[in-house]
Amino acid sequence: MIPTLQSLIGGRWIGREAATPLHNALTGGLIYHTHADAIDFGEAVHYARKTGVPALMKLDFQQRAAILKALALYLVERKEELYAISHLTGATRADSWVDIEGGTGTLFAYASMGGRELPSSNVLHEGPAMALGKNGGFAGTHILVPRGGVAVHINAFNFPIWGLLEKFAPSFLAAMPCIGKPATATSYLTEAVVRMIHESGLLPEGALQLVIGSTGDLLDRLEGFDAVTFTGSADTAAKLRVNRNLVAHSVPFTAEADSLNCAILAPDVTPDDPEFDLFVKEVAREMTGKAGQKCTAIRRIIVPETMVDAVGTRLRERLAKVSVGDPSVEGVRMGALASKDQQRDVGERLALLAQGNEVLFGERDGFNPVGDGVADGAFFAPTLLLCRDGMANDAVHDVEAFGPVSTIISYHGIDQALALAARGKGSLVSTLVTREPAIAAYAVPMAAASHGRVLILESEAAVDSTGHGSPLPQLKHGGPGRAGGGEELGGIRAVRHFLQRAAVQGSPTMLAAVTGEYVRGARVQESEVHPFRKYFEELHIGDSLLTHRRTVSEADIVNFGGVSGDYFYMHFDEIAAKDTQFGQRIAHGYFVLSAAAGLFVSPAPGPVLANYGLDNLRFVAPVAIGDTIRARLTCKRKVDRNRTDDKGVGQGVVAWDVQVTNQHDELVASYDILTLVMKRT
Ligand code: NDP
Repeated sequence: MIPTLQSLIGGRWIGREAATPLHNALTGGLIYHTHADAIDFGEAVHYARKTGVPALMKLDFQQRAAILKALALYLVERKEELYAISHLTGATRADSWVDIEGGTGTLFAYASMGGRELPSSNVLHEGPAMALGKNGGFAGTHILVPRGGVAVHINAFNFPIWGLLEKFAPSFLAAMPCIGKPATATSYLTEAVVRMIHESGLLPEGALQLVIGSTGDLLDRLEGFDAVTFTGSADTAAKLRVNRNLVAHSVPFTAEADSLNCAILAPDVTPDDPEFDLFVKEVAREMTGKAGQKCTAIRRIIVPETMVDAVGTRLRERLAKVSVGDPSVEGVRMGALASKDQQRDVGERLALLAQGNEVLFGERDGFNPVGDGVADGAFFAPTLLLCRDGMANDAVHDVEAFGPVSTIISYHGIDQALALAARGKGSLVSTLVTREPAIAAYAVPMAAASHGRVLILESEAAVDSTGHGSPLPQLKHGGPGRAGGGEELGGIRAVRHFLQRAAVQGSPTMLAAVTGEYVRGARVQESEVHPFRKYFEELHIGDSLLTHRRTVSEADIVNFGGVSGDYFYMHFDEIAAKDTQFGQRIAHGYFVLSAAAGLFVSPAPGPVLANYGLDNLRFVAPVAIGDTIRARLTCKRKVDRNRTDDKGVGQGVVAWDVQVTNQHDELVASYDILTLVMKRT
């Protein structure tokens, strides 16, 4: 009995009747059917809006980040089940690792970045606030808030798990319920991971739905507060981007599409340099990893004309060693394409690329996939082409064979190499292999104009390099032009993409109330209780302390110089100091900082557990001998990360605004102090 895949709509699994057959990429055997049962997309959208949005909005950014972490841990424990299914897509263990553990790794990364960078509320302040008038009563700032809509994530066939999770994680943090639509060919693997997620019970109701098969009229039901992300072919992206309803409602549409990525061997590298091997290795890995079905794979190998033969020979040698077949067979390094359709498609595109170019390595070089029953598998031979005149040949820059196919293109001079790279009309990633910082400084800004990411590779970086082909959660993924013009990942940027930004104007007191952060000039509360003696729950934004004063003496400066060893002339050389912009000796900035701490701390043991750093430090004006300083300490921001220490004591993060002023009430130093504060409970 061939199982029928199911969609998860409105909290129920739907699908009994078989529809499209899906095949094992390695053997061609029938493994699943999609379902024929119609999906009510009205119900899906209604459920996301009416159940998903409120459930997600009951949580704050920090709580959602914690759920992502729990989900990642849950999936990691069950990863072997996913590896077993991933095998059917033709992937090797290493290929599947990128999809499965790359996916859970992305969840972990967003849990951690969310925990570090987002507030324990649903308002993200994009400060600082700025004064908009002369009297300090009117200010402006920006906030980012959940859009209250639904995120539809449409994915390509090549990363059925990572593709969903890398889009889901930031939109979930942004409190958007998600409707995931995997590419049909490998949707069985996405269905498996969504089943696990559903069974975990970790997500709020309505946070994730799954569409197997067509999206029907889903896009026609979206509104302006929703969002669509897409990964796949440029043709489909172009079609969906102009969907009348999406255009009419200004629904944000982000695309990752075709990309003819390149690797450039700079003119300084010779075959005797370790960088030459690095280049060849990187190209061979990108050609054969996931059988070349990576949006980031190197399609164009741009090398100096004098190096074409040497690169060609070394690549041929490497490719000849790549054993292709069923990845469960010992020694197999490259599996199959995801489907027969893909095999056909890659074959057709290779035929276009081969016109006018030489085939240096390919099927004729002993291609014979190994394994039982692989005769009907969707295998494709690693194929290396050579284009001797890349400026005259359009196909190498326009035709993306989404398989283990790449073309060496010769260049004359680095400017021509960069011109060839730009002929890709916008790509996700390029690699520049060079030993020369000056070449990198010249070439990278130009390459960056047409690429979403640039990897500079030499021996020093190679030790830890994550590789040309790996998008990282911390770094932006997406390229201009043909690559779709979208941006994904890139740390918290991706979460911001799913939030709505608004400028807010008003008095500092109002802005502080709205943003949940103290804004300079806002009303403060002073009380008998020192703010450092309050537990996390008892502290309020705006709780403030104005300290006693201290007059800075020459002895302070001399002593501080002695303690710190800092005898900079500005503090110690009367004559030299006269010639400076200050016209006299001044106190060390770090003395002012230390003296301010001495003014505002409450020394006895209390709820403040640690001071772990400073942000935004500025020494605004000099402090001279005889000046009198004081500090104002104000509770600026509280973040409840739901953490406890080793003894089980709860704690939260508190940032304090510090303003140090002189006897004329002029600001001399300004900064934020970051502390951990104990909870009472
Ligand atoms: P497609 O563009 O055909 O499909 C991508 C996704 O869009 C799939 O989920 C597909 O679903 C869906 N889709 C297709 N038509 C519609 C529609 N009218 N409305 C809504 N959804 C639609 O790309 P493939 O996944 O088949 O990959 C084909 C090519 O895309 C590759 O050969 C490669 O060139 C490129 N690609 C680029 C990537 C990149 O990031 N740069 C990544 C992967 C692929 P269904 O499968 O059900 O048709």
